[in-house]
Amino acid sequence: MSSRPPFALCALLALSLPVLCAAAPTVSRLTPPSELFASNNSGGPVIARFLPGQRFDLQATVRMDTGTTLTDFRFAVDGVDTKPAANTTSVVTTGLTLQKDVNAAVVSQRAFSMKKPGVHTLTVHATQSDGQRVSATGNFEIVALERNGKPAKNIIILLGDGMGASQRTAARIMGRGYAQGKAQSPLAMDTFPVTGMVMTSSLDGIVTDSSPGMSNYVTGNKSANNTEGVFPDDTLDAFDNPRIEYLSEYLHRTQGKALGIVTTADVFDATPAAMAVHTSNRGYGTGIVDQFLDDRGLTGLSVLMGGGRKWFLPNADKLKANGALDGQPMNGSQRDARSDYELPADLIAGWGAARGSKDAGRDLIGDFRAAGFAYAPDKAGLVAADSADKLLGLFSYSNMNVAFDKINKRRGVSTIVDDYGFPDQPMLDEMASAALKVLARHKQGFIAMIEGASIDKQEHLMDTDRWLLEVLEFDRAIQVAKDFAAAHPDTIVIVTADHECSGASIIGASTKPVAALQAAATAPSVAGQRDAIVGTYQASKFPKYAMAPDGYPVSTDVDYKMLIGYGANADRYENWLSNPTPTQDSQQPFVGVAPQGGYPATPNVRNATSGFLITGQVPGDSAVHTATDVPLSAYGRGAAAFTGVMDNTDVFFKLAKIVGAR
Ligand SMILES: [Zn+2]
Repeated sequence: MSSRPPFALCALLALSLPVLCAAAPTVSRLTPPSELFASNNSGGPVIARFLPGQRFDLQATVRMDTGTTLTDFRFAVDGVDTKPAANTTSVVTTGLTLQKDVNAAVVSQRAFSMKKPGVHTLTVHATQSDGQRVSATGNFEIVALERNGKPAKNIIILLGDGMGASQRTAARIMGRGYAQGKAQSPLAMDTFPVTGMVMTSSLDGIVTDSSPGMSNYVTGNKSANNTEGVFPDDTLDAFDNPRIEYLSEYLHRTQGKALGIVTTADVFDATPAAMAVHTSNRGYGTGIVDQFLDDRGLTGLSVLMGGGRKWFLPNADKLKANGALDGQPMNGSQRDARSDYELPADLIAGWGAARGSKDAGRDLIGDFRAAGFAYAPDKAGLVAADSADKLLGLFSYSNMNVAFDKINKRRGVSTIVDDYGFPDQPMLDEMASAALKVLARHKQGFIAMIEGASIDKQEHLMDTDRWLLEVLEFDRAIQVAKDFAAAHPDTIVIVTADHECSGASIIGASTKPVAALQAAATAPSVAGQRDAIVGTYQASKFPKYAMAPDGYPVSTDVDYKMLIGYGANADRYENWLSNPTPTQDSQQPFVGVAPQGGYPATPNVRNATSGFLITGQVPGDSAVHTATDVPLSAYGRGAAAFTGVMDNTDVFFKLAKIVGAR
């Protein structure tokens, strides 16, 4: 929808009036995104939706004629000019992703909001220095919220990263057992009274990654892959993108609620960051963890727990003298000015955000403590710190070790966790319990996100028994949340996933005892390991995993064990046995160094001498996410809203309504 002359008229006039018709300004992007702007389709779905009063940025990219400059711009909603504070509007003409010969400007109005429900048109008007003008129109919706019953005070989101229906079933088979076709008992998540299905696609792909997979739930809007809490733009800066106010920010600003984030991943990872941090690059760990602290006044952040200490330690460039660590600081720090930020003035003014600084040498743990956070470096410290009202727990350099290896350390069976330097890491249910204890001290209520992160990470690696124990660990955290909600009935709890991962399928069970699997691994072959072992249909009986008092299987290598196939797989070698060590985690600071360096690098070399080759359908060396809908189960006040098939952005509006947003 442009005011430039129609092409035919231009062509006709071109001979006599080349300057007028050579071009005119155009608008190549209008934010928030809409089908009306992108496809000129007024009948398509409304893409961007907001709560009454929820803040978001208006932005447009204007391409001007060569030799001209932008002299004026304004936004209008429903034909009426918006009235920005002067210091919340800006024009950016350098540092753009557009090709160098394009004369373009990105124009913004920060932290816009409106209360009136309904679909509204958004128009940008721009004028270039020769007087030629352009206008472009899109739309967005303000969702009406009628109050419905007594509002809930607390929200607990349990996010099983990559946990689809198959993963839930497989964990039930392993953790509870079946008899003559019936589960012996349900998982905690099976006991939630309401279940629906969620569509997980992102703004720019049917298959999402974890950043929009999470932020779509808590902004009500579709973000693009690898971005969290923002819309796409045309600037190079990863922290200046048009923002969408998070549920945490909206509820802290309007109701004074606190925010808690608990994960088994590195806390900079996509899912935890997509609760509170606004960036178009999920990899910029230094800036992401800084923003957790520096903008806690916006989000109400009061609990942050997981791995990721490498981003919090000052990078003092103390290199090992013998060069064994090859440029890595000995303290494990990976703070780096290149993954940090300083925000532009209009964004600071509009949102009240902290400016930030590119400070690789920052002692961020010290700064959290100075801000009143108790700090727990391990499980023992966590027990000591949960009497605080703000809590930081950082239990490893990057992603925490998985349940399989943490439990085997507690049982004295293996010392894998020692190889990472963190022998006393808590389990997720212990972290969840401490987090809820701390958050319950916040009188206005809270929003907590508790993530079973390595379900996904071990699925990418197709390390079957490791992700299975992650689901069991996650289910124990679900029980903690359910118990909390039973004692605090003003709480809504949802269990869901950001996306499915790996296309995992329960294909059957081994027809042989585990000794036969071990024997077959000495002479790997398709005939010996696939044809002779994979039992389908009634040849797969009911595998029996004896459970230890700690809640996990005594062994995952049991006779007639459950077998998992992968529909979204890269190449791997399979011998059906549990892998004695994890596969390397490239996020760890000392991954290339012994003893971690001795672990298999990828699934396509792991078990190469003991398993048969299964050729994957996807390129690369790990399994991928899929677009399959994921289950969502709900318990507590307002749970009935979560039935049927819903978009991930719908979950935001349901939660807002349940906590009495208006
Ligand atoms: Zn993933």
